[in-house]
Amino acid sequence: MNYSEFIEVYEELSETTKKLGKTDILADFLKKLKEHSEWIYLLRGRVVADYDEREFGISTQLVIKAISRASGISIEKVVEKFRKIGDLGEVAEEFIKFKKQNTLFSSKLKVDKVFTNLTRLMDTDGKGSVDKKLDFISELLTSASGKEAKYIIRTLLNDLRVGVADAILRDSIAKAFFENEDEMRDIIDEAYDKVNDFAEVYERAIKGKSALHEVDIKPGRPMKVMLPVKVLDLDEALRICGETVAVEHKYDGFRVVISNDGRKIDLFTRRLDNVTKQFSDVVSVVKDNVKGKSYVLDSEVVGYDPKSGKYKPFEAISQRIRRKYDIDKLIRDLPVEINVFDILFYNGKSTMGMPFLERRKLLEKIIKIQDKKIRLSTQFVSNDKDKIMKFYKDALKIGEEGIMIKNISAHYRPGRRVGYMVKIKPVVNDLDLVIIGAEYGTGKRAGGLTSFIVACRDGKDFLEVGKVSSGLKEKESEGTTYKEINNLLTPLIIKKDGTIVHVKPKVIVSVTYQNMQKSPSYSSGFAMRFPRITHYRPERGIYDIATIEDIKKEAGKERR
Ligand code: ATP
Repeated sequence: MNYSEFIEVYEELSETTKKLGKTDILADFLKKLKEHSEWIYLLRGRVVADYDEREFGISTQLVIKAISRASGISIEKVVEKFRKIGDLGEVAEEFIKFKKQNTLFSSKLKVDKVFTNLTRLMDTDGKGSVDKKLDFISELLTSASGKEAKYIIRTLLNDLRVGVADAILRDSIAKAFFENEDEMRDIIDEAYDKVNDFAEVYERAIKGKSALHEVDIKPGRPMKVMLPVKVLDLDEALRICGETVAVEHKYDGFRVVISNDGRKIDLFTRRLDNVTKQFSDVVSVVKDNVKGKSYVLDSEVVGYDPKSGKYKPFEAISQRIRRKYDIDKLIRDLPVEINVFDILFYNGKSTMGMPFLERRKLLEKIIKIQDKKIRLSTQFVSNDKDKIMKFYKDALKIGEEGIMIKNISAHYRPGRRVGYMVKIKPVVNDLDLVIIGAEYGTGKRAGGLTSFIVACRDGKDFLEVGKVSSGLKEKESEGTTYKEINNLLTPLIIKKDGTIVHVKPKVIVSVTYQNMQKSPSYSSGFAMRFPRITHYRPERGIYDIATIEDIKKEAGKERR
């Protein structure tokens, strides 16, 4: 297949804003991929599955050099153009098009070639890698048309801008290969949430419904975890989960999937990041205290003070997720306890279809409890509302966040907020939001970004919910610092507008506020009063943030 066929789809997709339109375009195109299932990754600007953390690792500088080399235009001119139009994809398009008009070059760029070179880029590192990478990119650009060059560059810079979200790809696969699209959407979704690999889902979809049903999680790979539904009170919880329920403490730590594939143990966050290196202490504890050749455990890892033994809130241990140096010292200063609450795979077989209480029994059999190292979540099974209420109050008294109520016979459904478990916690006004812009400070803070425009999600769009300038700290030991947020945001800057910058929506923060009110100043139509950033959420992705529906609900609270 010629790469130009991909370009046509990219262009059509970027001209269509409607989800349904995109689904039609993609459904038609997907039928053509056939045995090249891996090309499906290119539709999202990648060459590997979503669970795979490898990146192209290409700097803006390298792209500028490659454009210059392939087009014969000087580096200075490329930089100048880039300054003017702010998009290297378009710079490449213009210069490569110009070059093509002046040569008799006509060979067609094949998808296979693009895919191969992009894959090579990802696997090239060490000595001489920059030159090799430059060769791979220039080779592609030299055989590319202007438009092809634009999309190659955007792919390399992780900025494809054609908007193929998970849901759109899922719907398109359903439409391309099945008559009963509605029913298949859920089945495809579940298969995807287990493997996080659209190529595998695509191959199975071609084979049919039963092949999709057979998709299973794979130890050693990250997976999407099951999430709870938030309820207002116990009555609602019992209505959703059944009369007799399992009640557990809701720990204030962070979610870790512990995966042993028979050879090694890996730890993943709910955003599918591999955090094994940062938590070697967890790996040793698991190795010594969990029986079994292979397994996947779901757990909450909670920090505690090594001197007093008292548990610490998430903010206090969040440094352990993101720090890549001094790890041994952090392990000593901020030790953690693993609270295991579910098992999804055991000794070669999935356990997700087993009723919850049976999964719990299996956990009880295979885990050796060690004080302040590894334990099972505190649980009791009951249909007595008074007893559950007392358990809830006691949990709050000892400082837990609330309780989780779980359906005792439900299976495990990865990736979804399903009613197989719900959470009850005291009402606090806080939301996870993404930073989409920021403003430089003045005076003492001149030169640094000090106030942040935060947004919620509306489908694949982001809507502003306010500007936050307080809550961040000076010292790392006190929580998330200005410096850290600045370091995270600087490489994400897309555009500067005086003292304001627009950034790619990547950095997620928890924000507390007094109340939510209507406001014409922000694109959501709402604004938080007295917002404060409590902490950075490195383990969350943009799909975890509050939606516009959540914001409306919050604003509705005020009127009740
Ligand atoms: P909120 O967004 O309301 O602050 P949250 O940030 O903790 O809540 P939620 O997804 O709403 O996130 O709550 C579910 C999380 O609670 C899980 O992802 C898990 O990390 C944590 N958790 C703590 N204890 C348990 C438990 N016993 N069983 C399941 N999850 C638990």
